[in-house]
Amino acid sequence: MTIATANRLKKLQPSPTMAMNAKARALEAQGIKILSLSVGEPDFDTPEYICKAAIEAINSGFTRYTAADGIAPLKAAIQDKFKRDNQLSYNANEIIVTSGAKQALANAFCAILNPGDEVIIPAPYWVSYPDMVILGEGIPKFIYADHTQDFKITAKQLEAAITPRTRMFAINSPNNPTGMIYSTEELKALAEVLKKHPNIIILSDDIYEHLIWSDLPFANLLMVCPELKDRTIVVNGVSKSYAMTGWRIGYAAGPAEVINQIKNIQMQTTSAPNSIAQMAALAAITGPQDSIPLMNKQFKLRHDFLVKALNALPGVKCVPAQGAFYLLPDFSDWLKQRPEIGNDEQLAETLLTEIHIATVAGTPFGAPNCIRLSFASSMDTLEEAMRRLERFVG
Ligand code: PMP
Ligand code: GLU
Repeated sequence: MTIATANRLKKLQPSPTMAMNAKARALEAQGIKILSLSVGEPDFDTPEYICKAAIEAINSGFTRYTAADGIAPLKAAIQDKFKRDNQLSYNANEIIVTSGAKQALANAFCAILNPGDEVIIPAPYWVSYPDMVILGEGIPKFIYADHTQDFKITAKQLEAAITPRTRMFAINSPNNPTGMIYSTEELKALAEVLKKHPNIIILSDDIYEHLIWSDLPFANLLMVCPELKDRTIVVNGVSKSYAMTGWRIGYAAGPAEVINQIKNIQMQTTSAPNSIAQMAALAAITGPQDSIPLMNKQFKLRHDFLVKALNALPGVKCVPAQGAFYLLPDFSDWLKQRPEIGNDEQLAETLLTEIHIATVAGTPFGAPNCIRLSFASSMDTLEEAMRRLERFVG
């Protein structure tokens, strides 16, 4: 008997990043050594002081349900973090701790959208946004920006994409999958457009805030345009900045009524974020921040190596990035010369099965003909991957 599942889920896809990681793991389980350039998580260990805080939490019996929106000291630390890093001031009822930034984003879409509401998403985008919007019964609308415009949309493009049904605008900088950062001026130009459309709720995904190695300072729409505060939700978390992807702690800040709805969703679905991980996140946010520049130094070295090596490949163009740990080389010209490969999705598949490199195809990120490479892997892995890629592509 086949079970008919909810119509709402008919358009929902498995996460391509998670799917590629799973495929690579399955091949590894068969004894095949895979060079992993697919996974979007730092390859560093969670710093020791953070792990110690978690062990202390267990030993002291801090192992019960917490408040649905997170423990008070962590919320206070998040308030301080927003003041310290972003010059943004929030009350405690404007902040919620979530099980990863992913849950904050999914719940935010769910809290705002009604069936048929449109959400503008600049492409390339992180693979999960469109499916989260679909889960919230909204309609994702993409604005495309390829490598010729550094993968960043312009104010003019945003203006042209807005319709009377536009309900949300989601922006992610530093960006997954491009590593690009919107400058203050670029954000100001986008904010000018958004100011004219008071019905649009803004979702700023700042998860890669601290993973920047260029001279460009971090900024988000709210920092450049404080008057958008009554309709902006800022999402962040500890996964990337503190190498804590498995701990599953993120957070959101925004208007109290939206945060309260997110809290209601959380109460009825997960009860609360993990108590032990919240203590670890508290240590992460309030403790020494010196692991971040150390990680960034490594990311920059790897980035510089990869950009040079990728641009030396025939038919491949790779725009340098400024943050996160991704590059999005464009294989359009190379694919034209190799019709038997077909497209980026087949290319990613071939790279996995033939030369045992795990990457993610660009198409699910809204970037056809591109391949997303994560350089959250050791330099040795990257060098070997490039040797294989040179032989394969050349
Ligand atoms: N936003 C973006 C752009 C991401 O790449 C990720 C990584 N998974 C997340 C949000 C979610 O992060 P997490 O749930 O691990 O906090
Ligand atoms: N954000 C990471 C990535 O894009 C982790 C996997 C996921 O949650 O999609 O690879």
